[in-house]
Amino acid sequence: MSASLLENLNPEQRAAVTLPHESALILAGAGSGKTRVLTTRMVWLIQTGQVSPLGVLAVTFTNKAAKEMMTRVSAMLPINTRGMWVGTFHGLANRLLRTHYREAGLPQSFQILDSQDQLSAIKRLMKAMNVDTEKYEPKKVQRFINGNKEAGLRARDVEAFDDYSMRMTELYEAYDAQCQREGVADFPELLLRAYELLYRNEPLRQHYQDRFRHILIDEFQDTNTLQYRWLKLFAGPRTALFAVGDDDQSIYAFRGANTANMAEFEREFAHGNVIKLEQNYRSHGNILTAANTLISQNAHRLGKNLWTAEGEGEPIRVFHAYSDQEEASFVVDEVRALNREGMNLSDMALLYRSNAQSRVLEHALFSASVPYRVYGGLRFFERQEVKHALAYLRLLTNPEDDGAFLRVVNFPTRGIGARTLGQLADGAARAGTSLWQAACTAGGKVAGFAKLIEDIKQVTADLPLAEAIDHVIEASGLADYYRADKEGADRLENLNELINAAALFAEESEAATYDAVDASAPAGAESFRALDTFLAHAALEAGEHQAGAGHDALQLMTVHAAKGLEFHAVFITGLEEGLFPHEQSAYDSTRASARSGSESFRANEESGLEEERRLMYVAITRARRRLYLSHAQSRMLHGQTRYSLPSRFLDELPEQVLLNLNRRNEPAYSSGSPKPAEGYKGASGYSAPAAPRSPQTGNDTGYKVGQSVVHAKFGTGIIIDFEGRGADARVQVKFRNAGSKWLALAYAKLAPA
Ligand code: ATP
Ligand code: MG
Repeated sequence: MSASLLENLNPEQRAAVTLPHESALILAGAGSGKTRVLTTRMVWLIQTGQVSPLGVLAVTFTNKAAKEMMTRVSAMLPINTRGMWVGTFHGLANRLLRTHYREAGLPQSFQILDSQDQLSAIKRLMKAMNVDTEKYEPKKVQRFINGNKEAGLRARDVEAFDDYSMRMTELYEAYDAQCQREGVADFPELLLRAYELLYRNEPLRQHYQDRFRHILIDEFQDTNTLQYRWLKLFAGPRTALFAVGDDDQSIYAFRGANTANMAEFEREFAHGNVIKLEQNYRSHGNILTAANTLISQNAHRLGKNLWTAEGEGEPIRVFHAYSDQEEASFVVDEVRALNREGMNLSDMALLYRSNAQSRVLEHALFSASVPYRVYGGLRFFERQEVKHALAYLRLLTNPEDDGAFLRVVNFPTRGIGARTLGQLADGAARAGTSLWQAACTAGGKVAGFAKLIEDIKQVTADLPLAEAIDHVIEASGLADYYRADKEGADRLENLNELINAAALFAEESEAATYDAVDASAPAGAESFRALDTFLAHAALEAGEHQAGAGHDALQLMTVHAAKGLEFHAVFITGLEEGLFPHEQSAYDSTRASARSGSESFRANEESGLEEERRLMYVAITRARRRLYLSHAQSRMLHGQTRYSLPSRFLDELPEQVLLNLNRRNEPAYSSGSPKPAEGYKGASGYSAPAAPRSPQTGNDTGYKVGQSVVHAKFGTGIIIDFEGRGADARVQVKFRNAGSKWLALAYAKLAPA
């Protein structure tokens, strides 16, 4: 049996799968079978009786990947996978904390704050403390808190060296106290709390260390300091850790990911037990050549190259659009052509650097009736109406949750005004209680609200999850509110979708009992309540249960969200300077050292760019057969039209693997590389778009907005604005390496590019 398991592996992969019981690091490039090796090893260990399913802990980066892993394992092994600890860091930390909520100092029904909830909790706290939000921006406070938590530091551990950081630390401390009072935990808190629980509780640590004989970690390059320390706590003397990763795909430095963990892991655990995999099974040759060439331009690499036994395959298709709309209709045309030729929509991915880009693409897909699904972005569970419903549910299970209370106490409107709430808050603060408790002893409309919640609680106590949620939506008045709203139809539909999601969730996970099969759980572990499990799921999942799940649909997501996935065809859109590489990448100094001399600024800028390049490497290596790269000269983003040069990443790809889809008679706006392809008709029936919108001129200079130019001193740039006429005419040029400048045309040493 296990022989057939190993049949479809190359010798290095097989060696990795069948390593003896010792720790190892698998360092390998994209598509070389890391995830396959990791999953196969899990199955192999269980199948050969070396470990029971309960003795395995497997961590991956996204819920989607965790689910995929479970599916693969159950396909290979006829076992009940339910008791297995397979999940994301956050998912597993949540599981640990729910199982041992008392030891962790949390109420049984503690609620999880997503980052939106967290920010409102911080704002509420700052208001109560009368903190100047100009000086201390709530978002910065949030970053400060999360950054410290991710580094494993509580407020008392933070070294504050000036007034500003002292105040920030005070806010951190007060925020944590507020969360504790309200029985809520933010994302990094889940990890830190789970870490502290195991760190302080020796018997519990012993239990888990004895239990987990094998810990397997996918995407190890993106673990942060706390996650790594967390793993180390689970690892007892007889635990073997199996880490797989690719330093070239580290894309979470901005959130504290630390590639140095790889070197440290090698030293602390692997002791030279390092296996490299270099054969890529995912992509055709041209795609791989592009990826290899691009990433070779990063200076800081452990260094490895990928090869493939497949042929070169198709060239990489490059499209230059005038506008984001033209880019979107190009994508729609290609997607439909590929679909007509027989490729499933779900085998195609549409990638972009930032969520804001999806709107135009979605609009075009929607108008053309192409089914699509967005991962991430404004997740289903983050929509306003869904959040309202969830807040009612949270209040039912954990009345101390002031955030939830405030969200719904006057929604739908019940005539409870700001003044009443102010008085209520004062009363609660004086008595040291939650708003809910204060409400229970209040009179008037507030008492009415308290009664409403109590009534709902009674009715729903014995109802199945979906029916309970249905009742909440009706009884709270949410349903009526949206029925009366002219534009409420979509929102009502989403509320119905929430009921469906709950039904599906209950069915899939038999949530109420999902840890009951975990026979080895120590005393004190209780089965989780369905509603709590569902609420945790709502906070942690990333859109998999979105409306329309299971139908064939084009996959839309950011490059970050595409990590680990693969598709037959991939579109990377918005390849523009400032967008990808992202302009903030160069200036993100939040994690830079306090001493920001120009030296460290430059180093920082460089590392920001390298991270963007790794991100591009991840994007390219998602494609198996066909890859499209596109950029638009003008784009509406955040309410403004911006003109951009093509991304430098396009220039960094080898010309011989590229195919320019624009016709020769159209002006080329690229800053160089792609060749015009004469007579190209488009392999998938694509014909070049109808007459392009003529670029805006509106001046007598012979130059036009959007045109690429070269300046003797500043290099290449793009014209973004004009001013004046004749001899006084000035142009504003956005230079690739020198920022934006106004130049007098009469003197400027400017030439068309
Ligand atoms: P990433 O770095 O993007 O996460 P990865 O290294 O995890 O990639 P996998 O996703 O495991 O790579 O594998 C890439 C593809 O190659 C998958 O479709 C996998 O099934 C296939 N594959 C891996 N190894 C082999 C093999 N020995 N023979 C055939 N196909 C393979
Ligand atoms: Mg993988």
